[in-house]
Amino acid sequence: MTKPAILTVDDDAMVSAAISRDLRTRYGPDYRIVKATSGPQALDVLTKLALRNQPVALIASDQRMPGMTGIEMLEQARTHAPDAKFLLLTAYADTDVAIKAINDIGLDYYLLKPWDPPEDRLYPIIDDLLGDWRDANPEHTSDIRVIGHRWSDRSHEIKTFLARNHVPYRWYDVDRDVEGQRLSTLAEAAETDHPLVLVPDGDTLRSPTSLDLAGALGLRTMAEQPLYDLCIVGGGPAGLAAAVYAASEGLSTVIVEREAPGGQAGTSAAIENYLGFPKGLTGSDLTHRAVAQVTRFGAEMVLARSVAGFETRGPVHAVLFDGSGEIEARALVVATGVSYRRLEAEGLDELSGRGVYYGATASEASQCQGDDVYIVGAANSAGQAALNLARYAKRVVLLVRAASLEATMSRYLIDKLAAAPNVEVRFRTKVLAARGEGHLETLTLADVDSGDPEEVSSSWLFVFIGASPRTEWLGPNIARDDKGFVVTGQDLLASTDATRWPLPRAPLALETSVPGVFAAGDVRLDSMKRVASAVGEGAMAVYQVHRYLATI
Ligand SMILES: Cc1cc2nc3c(=O)[nH]c(=O)nc-3n(C[C@H](O)[C@H](O)[C@H](O)COP(=O)(O)OP(=O)(O)OC[C@H]3O[C@@H](n4cnc5c(N)ncnc54)[C@H](O)[C@@H]3O)c2cc1C
Repeated sequence: MTKPAILTVDDDAMVSAAISRDLRTRYGPDYRIVKATSGPQALDVLTKLALRNQPVALIASDQRMPGMTGIEMLEQARTHAPDAKFLLLTAYADTDVAIKAINDIGLDYYLLKPWDPPEDRLYPIIDDLLGDWRDANPEHTSDIRVIGHRWSDRSHEIKTFLARNHVPYRWYDVDRDVEGQRLSTLAEAAETDHPLVLVPDGDTLRSPTSLDLAGALGLRTMAEQPLYDLCIVGGGPAGLAAAVYAASEGLSTVIVEREAPGGQAGTSAAIENYLGFPKGLTGSDLTHRAVAQVTRFGAEMVLARSVAGFETRGPVHAVLFDGSGEIEARALVVATGVSYRRLEAEGLDELSGRGVYYGATASEASQCQGDDVYIVGAANSAGQAALNLARYAKRVVLLVRAASLEATMSRYLIDKLAAAPNVEVRFRTKVLAARGEGHLETLTLADVDSGDPEEVSSSWLFVFIGASPRTEWLGPNIARDDKGFVVTGQDLLASTDATRWPLPRAPLALETSVPGVFAAGDVRLDSMKRVASAVGEGAMAVYQVHRYLATI
């Protein structure tokens, strides 16, 4: 595989030599470090790399250079290296210009010179930037290969599972890629064996379940200990935050996640309102950082296991896995969030995973290259998806039942949608039906007022129409409202379920009707449904777990 390039650009010979040396020392084995001494020369180098189909992971440029500034060069470099991360080396006096460049040209980071010692001031930043680049460009760095049919729902599920668990892979369409056909023939794969997953040093996996795949990739699918201080169900922002705080404060902690860490936030293309990230960050980036933090503090993470039942056994709570297996813990945090609501229209269920998707991940976005894409929804999640898909699709049409977006979507997203040349918003429109042989081919849309139908051709429909909690597994003892949201603290005392609370003390703010079982994040009645509030509640739940554990 060709090594991806890192390009450094600096007109000062000493600085240029220093940055190239520091980068080569650490990243030389995996990246090709290329040097340019001016903006025009950098663009020339990038043109050559693009023509040789050599991927560029990072461009680190000085701002102050004669003739063309770093920002001017980076602005033009997008054409040559669309996916590269941009780092600007600046003096303190250029800070304002650098902050403006975050919005204007998508600058990823600005670094004040000098960067000594590089171990503290340079490498952590470059590690982050290259980590993000590798996640977004798995085809350049992965040895795992997935071979299947483009419109198979199992192929879609496996790609989503790998992408959301940050496992880079290369995808081969067995109908269109010669290499895919070659590998399929070599593996003597029958039609039902697809998708195949080829793992280095492992067996050929034939249409594996998520559990088998997780096992083959070395992801943990069983808990190690018989009993923990705290079990957290759900690995979204609330669960991950609870795991960080619990493990860092010395509680033996396990977190169970049925799909992939990150939850809904993990599917977001751009979280722009989370404190501390002025450029915003992708859900995948946030998840990657959170998982690293959870692991560093020693919380165990059990993946690809769905919790299907709950029991209280004296002072201990048990969560029961779908299939077999269970975990016992002295306290429990329920952080299972919400799941997408299904859109009701003729033909949609049959085509789900075959052109009709709930939510969207980066892997789908890049496959829409040059196509017409339809999105249903009017909230921020639909707006973000429209902008992300518009980077690849020929045209994105957002279908909105209401007459405007003002009441449901943030202003900044409405403005961005209006400014995107290939995004169209169709108000007062609904989906009546979806049709296709094996995958989505046409949609029937209707005007909500007149009912007039219209047929359009499309292979892609993404649905973002709100979500509801799936809390049936909690059984009858944990009080929920009529929509399934978990009732806690004062809300519990004020509800008709107040009599279920068994202790003389009042329930803690996030405590459910069963003492020692807490709820955090979107799954909780009246929660704010934001990343920051889910993270806050996860941390707060741990404080209350400590108080609870002190009483038993
Ligand atoms: C596309 C999109 C974009 C968004 N953008 C923003 C934004 O820009 N800013 C913002 O503040 N908010 C945003 N949100 C909202 C934000 O992501 C959520 O409020 C937040 O993720 C809630 O976190 P949570 O941990 O409570 O639940 P979730 O994120 O829903 O996570 C719950 C987790 O629990 C797991 N789970 C569920 N049931 C089980 C079970 N039985 N067993 C095991 N695991 C289970 C799920 O697989 C999931 O991983 C966005 C949401 C979406 C969908």
